[in-house]
Amino acid sequence: MIAFDYARPASIVDALGAARERPAARFIAGGTNLLDLMKLGIERPRHLVDIGSLDLRVIEETAEGGLRIGALVTNAELAADRRVRARYPVLSRAILAGASAQLRNKATTAGNLLQRTRCFYFYDPATPCNKREPGSGCSAIGGVNRIMAIVGTSEACIASHPSDMAVAMRALGAVVETTGPAGERRSLTLDELYRLPGDTPHLETQLGAGELITAVTLPPPPPGRQSYRKVRDRASYAFALVSVAGIVAVENGRISHAALAFGGIGTMPWRDRAAETLLVGQAPGAGLFARVADAVLTGARGSGSNDFKLPLFRRTLAAALTALTEETRA
Ligand SMILES: Cc1cc2nc3c(=O)[nH]c(=O)nc-3n(C[C@H](O)[C@H](O)[C@H](O)COP(=O)(O)OP(=O)(O)OC[C@H]3O[C@@H](n4cnc5c(N)ncnc54)[C@H](O)[C@@H]3O)c2cc1C
Ligand code: SF4
Repeated sequence: MIAFDYARPASIVDALGAARERPAARFIAGGTNLLDLMKLGIERPRHLVDIGSLDLRVIEETAEGGLRIGALVTNAELAADRRVRARYPVLSRAILAGASAQLRNKATTAGNLLQRTRCFYFYDPATPCNKREPGSGCSAIGGVNRIMAIVGTSEACIASHPSDMAVAMRALGAVVETTGPAGERRSLTLDELYRLPGDTPHLETQLGAGELITAVTLPPPPPGRQSYRKVRDRASYAFALVSVAGIVAVENGRISHAALAFGGIGTMPWRDRAAETLLVGQAPGAGLFARVADAVLTGARGSGSNDFKLPLFRRTLAAALTALTEETRA
């Protein structure tokens, strides 16, 4: 491991001050992703600012009827929170579908959103990777790409985003709150937080240097039923090949509300509002679900060993939508 210095500030002000003094500093929360990457030499921060002591571990009600989740709330705490389980079950289920109990006890809300891809080549410094070393090439294109993305890809990178929690949060319309090193605050939807790879796949979010995520806010719970369906190589402890976060309401035999987000297929947690629009006002059924899948997959492209994700996505989406609507069909 490369030498680095370490600070553990006790307040947000001190954490931001530490980041301001050392522009190349990195925050570390649970460390379950960043430390692994440091041990492998993929990430080489010279300064670590450990934010584990900050007062950011509370889940509170918002005036609007939603929830504000502190950035340091662990994945285990968030999944088990009775308000989350009752009002946002898609989020609880997505978190529990990820990693292991031990990891979820350490992993934090902000860290989960900002975890990096699981592309094999990104983790192997002996191979070219534009995300790890801009301009070096992409070993996954033409290589082993079973786990890679089929939408949002570019000629420079086809890596999929690994987070389950972020998929559920994207369907729920979550908003990330941040504070910059000079104290400036902003709010970003997840649509705004993540960047497509384009020709700069090493830039994954819109966050600036030293910008701290302080909380994630969920709007009031949407109407309808919620589910998270994840297809993976093993029943546990595996990342999604395809996942669907679905929130669907049916009234009088017709879909009145739909929000869908997808994991495993995209270079970022994927949401397609045009596809959701196709559902609203329609009676649920296999033909409709197939048209929605077509819409989501417009422009989708396999890279060889991940071609199976196209039919797998169609089947997973149809199964998720069928389960969400079947008991309420006219
Ligand atoms: C074996 C294994 C299996 C896994 N399986 C899954 C899975 O199936 N599904 C899934 O979703 N995840 C999975 N994970 C990933 C795991 O969920 C993440 O490692 C974890 O959520 C990261 O959170 P953390 O707090 O440990 O982040 P850290 O490792 O501490 O940080 C990750 C990144 O976030 C940044 N960061 C952290 N907090 C902040 C903040 N407040 N503001 C700004 N930047 C911040 C850090 O600088 C770093 O870049 C798995 C991990 C492992 C090791
Ligand atoms: S897909 Fe992206 S992360 Fe993987 S090798 Fe190519 S550039 Fe690197």
